[in-house]
Amino acid sequence: MVLADLGKRINSAVSEVTKANVVDQTAVDGLLKEISNALIEADVNVKLVLNLRKKLKSTIEQEEKPGVNKKKLIQKAVFDELCDLVDCKETELYKPKKKKTNVIMFVGLQGAGKTTTCTKLAVYYQRRGFKVGMVCADTFRAGAFDQLKQNATKAKIPYYGSYTEADPVKVASDGVEKFKKEKFEIIIVDTSGRHRQESELFAEMIQIGEAVQPNQTIMVLDASIGQAAESQSRAFKESSNFGAIILTKMDGHAKGGGAISAVAATHTPIAFIGTGEHINDLESFTPRQFVSKLLGIGDIQGLMEHVQSLNLDQKDTIKNFQEGKFTLRDLQTQMNNILKMGPLSKIAQMLPGGIGEMMNQVGEEETSKRFKRMVYVMDSMTKQELDSDGDIFVDQPSRIVRVARGSGTSVTEVEAVLMQQKMFARMAQTTKSMQQGGANPMAGGRGG
Ligand code: GDP
Repeated sequence: MVLADLGKRINSAVSEVTKANVVDQTAVDGLLKEISNALIEADVNVKLVLNLRKKLKSTIEQEEKPGVNKKKLIQKAVFDELCDLVDCKETELYKPKKKKTNVIMFVGLQGAGKTTTCTKLAVYYQRRGFKVGMVCADTFRAGAFDQLKQNATKAKIPYYGSYTEADPVKVASDGVEKFKKEKFEIIIVDTSGRHRQESELFAEMIQIGEAVQPNQTIMVLDASIGQAAESQSRAFKESSNFGAIILTKMDGHAKGGGAISAVAATHTPIAFIGTGEHINDLESFTPRQFVSKLLGIGDIQGLMEHVQSLNLDQKDTIKNFQEGKFTLRDLQTQMNNILKMGPLSKIAQMLPGGIGEMMNQVGEEETSKRFKRMVYVMDSMTKQELDSDGDIFVDQPSRIVRVARGSGTSVTEVEAVLMQQKMFARMAQTTKSMQQGGANPMAGGRGG
């Protein structure tokens, strides 16, 4: 089952229970069964699923007290348990530091997506203001240097490699040395892979590691291998003590859920996931954001991070959002940014509620058209209206008619914009209270 279907299935199981008049034991058991089946079909390890089911059941039973809203309790418990399933709590992720040399070494089997991911990560950090260089220490595979060179050139990232030197350790240390001298802040070293795990590969990784002394070693793993991700990462862990994992090919593959939970069980955090072949198809991974997106609650933080990396205008929106506010002007700014960002399908998935669904139902072109009309609506609002929380339209509904006329849209479309803004405003409030410790992200996320 693909991840989007998993999210939908869990969501509808939770909604069914929360819509019911009485939430009795039978309803809870039905929910637990449905969630477990969905996870198993998404290839999550059966033991992990049974454990999740047990914990979920006991949380619901233990915390059920008079005065506690049982439906909200269930929503929160499901959200928390899913986060737990994909969370590796033991190890902190390394964060590259500005004005220092950060050496990042990549390891992994051939075909996992190492070279592609090196470039994606280089671009990711370059966009965040780091001076980044790439070193090709793969002297094993013919054409490896050409591939990295091609990728790096396209992405405008400085690179180092050799057509004549056959010793990968020498190439790696020469490259790192060169970039260090030139005060590069992030140096990414791509190493060679093999078709399968073999001692020669592990020996080579150890030698390169000793030569370049990486601040972080990242293992690149193909997510389409599902639960086998666990044994593969364990084998690599013994020889190259990597501190993070990037799961690639998370786009559209059935076994994504399996790989994520398997890897989380190896006590190494997933730093990023690769979601396509394009240079921008890399998303930072945090359990809460991942689960929010999976359940269609939206990934506002991810969206803002993405926008930030594109240097688009959104300073005021971030400030407002952190204060728990979201005005119509914020929605206007974000919508305009979204139209600049493309492809829309990726962005739509990060948004809460309706937009992602609209995208699935009517397709990219139609969604884009509707987005533009939403922007026209906001372009026709006055300064006072834009800076408001939208209640001004509730107090004076004639404003809705005026805006519809002025923007060449309909009253329904103006109302849809107002509804969307309300949804974001609720998200802003929820995020704020989550950051202050505790509130339930599922409580106010959906619907208008
Ligand atoms: P390497 O041998 O580990 O260096 O692997 P490559 O970087 O050459 O990638 C192998 C293939 O996987 C290439 O065709 C890449 O385009 C593809 N690939 C890498 N990452 C992703 C991803 O996240 N999604 C998809 N769909 N393809 C990917």
